[in-house]
Amino acid sequence: MPPECSVYTGELHAIAEAIKLSTNLNAKDSVIFTDSLSSSQSIKQPYPKHPILKNIKTQLYEMRLQGKNIELVWIPSHIGIPGNEEADVAAKEASADPSAKIISKIPYTDMKPVIKTYIRNIWHDRWHKNQNNKLLQINPNLNPVQYMGMCRRYQVILTRLRTGHTKLTHQHLLQRDVARKCETCQTNLDVNHILLDCPSYQRQRRASGLPGDLREILTPQNIDRLVTFLKCINILCDI
Ligand SMILES: [Zn+2]
Repeated sequence: MPPECSVYTGELHAIAEAIKLSTNLNAKDSVIFTDSLSSSQSIKQPYPKHPILKNIKTQLYEMRLQGKNIELVWIPSHIGIPGNEEADVAAKEASADPSAKIISKIPYTDMKPVIKTYIRNIWHDRWHKNQNNKLLQINPNLNPVQYMGMCRRYQVILTRLRTGHTKLTHQHLLQRDVARKCETCQTNLDVNHILLDCPSYQRQRRASGLPGDLREILTPQNIDRLVTFLKCINILCDI
């Protein structure tokens, strides 16, 4: 099988080949044993979309018209069943055989994860190469944020802080005003300064148990500590 082929497609292909063998042998009654639960269940689908499954159902229908019968039996595990272990060994030998026939057609659904991984790798590459990417520090692996039942208000707070765009630090752009500065340090006010650097908030950081790493602070797991800190320094409403 091509490397892009899913396990499910491979299992269906094996069943289709077994049906073909039974047809060639002109057997009246056959039993096919499979340890693939998904394949044996999917045979029951009335309108399958998978092309190999469609083919299997057509073959079974035609055999029934000829008075032949094929039973598909699911066996829970191949361990300890001599016939199935032999089949497993044969499958491994066939996969290592360079002269083995390789199926060239696989359903488009098998290509979806391949395409997804390809696009994600390009995205990941660009994400890391972009010199002006302010979000790289917060989310280097491009993982989606799992809010886990967090209330809407806290989701908004966390997202604004993660993107670095808050009312406090960016409202001046809408008001065409000058950027706000920290009253203590006289540096431009940004999320990094508030959460990590400004010495004025050191006591409140400790009191609220805020971690010392920006990425860790801005995870959903630390939302309660974060909100406590923002309340302590009286800027929760300005996020
Ligand atoms: Zn400061």
